Amino acid sequence: MDQQPVQSLVSLAELRAKLGKGLGDEPISATQVIEELVRDTAGGHLGSAGGRFFAWAIGGALPAALAADWLSSAWDQNAALYACGPAASVVEEAAGEWLKDLLGLPQSASFAFVSGCQMAHATCLAAARHSLLRRIGWDVEQRGLCGAPRIHLFASNRHGSVGRAVRLLGLGEANVTDLALDPAERARPEALEASLRGCGGEPTIVVLQAGDLNTGSFDPYGDLIPVARRHGAWVHVDGAFGLWAAASRAYRHLTDGAAQADSWATDGHKWLNVPYDCGYAFVADSSAHRGAMSHRAPYLVHDAEARDQIDWNPEWSRRGRGFATYAALRSLGRGGIEDLVNRCCQHARELVNGLASLRGVEVLWAPILNQGLIRFLDPESGGEDAAHDRYTDAIILRVVAGGEAFFMGTTFRGRRAMRVSVLNWQTRESDVRRAIKAVRQALEANQVPAAAK
Ligand SMILES: *Cc1c(COP(=O)(O)O)cnc(C)c1O
Repeated sequence: MDQQPVQSLVSLAELRAKLGKGLGDEPISATQVIEELVRDTAGGHLGSAGGRFFAWAIGGALPAALAADWLSSAWDQNAALYACGPAASVVEEAAGEWLKDLLGLPQSASFAFVSGCQMAHATCLAAARHSLLRRIGWDVEQRGLCGAPRIHLFASNRHGSVGRAVRLLGLGEANVTDLALDPAERARPEALEASLRGCGGEPTIVVLQAGDLNTGSFDPYGDLIPVARRHGAWVHVDGAFGLWAAASRAYRHLTDGAAQADSWATDGHKWLNVPYDCGYAFVADSSAHRGAMSHRAPYLVHDAEARDQIDWNPEWSRRGRGFATYAALRSLGRGGIEDLVNRCCQHARELVNGLASLRGVEVLWAPILNQGLIRFLDPESGGEDAAHDRYTDAIILRVVAGGEAFFMGTTFRGRRAMRVSVLNWQTRESDVRRAIKAVRQALEANQVPAAAK
């Protein structure tokens, strides 16, 4: 990964031409299929598994987790029931307990290993829907939502996956209201109080943020959750990567009070550096979680003692998803996880500071965790925001095209910015230096024609 360009080198048309061949009638040997798969996809993979990829919120794959993931496929267990995959069930049971401990969540909470934070939201909010409607005598699993009492939703720094979970659950995205934020991008308790008072005691879900995608900001849970409690609201926390701050003594304070929520969603495939297809849902009231998910059928076999994942997961058949998490957690240990979190935060700071020292670079957000925001100021412009917006996007494209480092843009408070997101276990100081150099060169390349004019 150190030697390879981090961006894709082939076009969509080339990939389609190479991969979109007709399906033949005759079998092809496994070796040939795989050799051709490697050949035909070459150049079409991003370097997101490596240390110079700072776009979106993407982690790599720890060696132990990667090997366990390969084994999960080789063992090919259907991890729906204990009866279908006894070891897969017990591995999730053990790793789920470790996760609660690491993330500072109540030891009595139930959990599910899902495909990602998106489905963790869907799982947790299904439990919320179950609980809130049950309290007022409505069995949502049986009666559905037609004619059901309305559920109000409020969200802080809403990620798109929250809206999609709301849509999947039939709660209606138009029923979600975004909470007013303070200058630190944290939901304001007085805004929540006013919003909840307006709901007149009707069922309400409050979604709080632990690690916003752009800023890594955390809500003041200790102030917000008691307000939600007073109004009988269910509090869900989106901690896709940010909840992992709780695993570090240096950053744990950011999550103070988050354990008082009703449910939490996070990822394994981001900061824990487990290969893709790994998120976790946690619910404080296990009966609400089970009530929303559990399924029974005459042909299924349930062990009275063992944990059947189908009671907690939205999927039926599923891979033995817990093996990779189990391996990642054991390979790092508590200290290694703390070190991983700290290292990523340190590299994010170094990256933002290094970029800030370049000419024409403005820092829009200095990392409080592992996320920062940078803006490139167009030296040609008279200071108009639109020109800086265009210039920022152009510089990002130029950096990416260089193949040394990968960044993406975002819009923050109405202005374009380059996101700096560090989540990969492989990122080292030398990667940070290479990335800063790549940005410097992109800026200089842009400035040459200007100087020549
Ligand atoms: C990535 C992310 C999600 C969605 O997680 P997936 O694992 O992609 O489903 C939700 N919230 C935040 C803050 C994220 O960064």
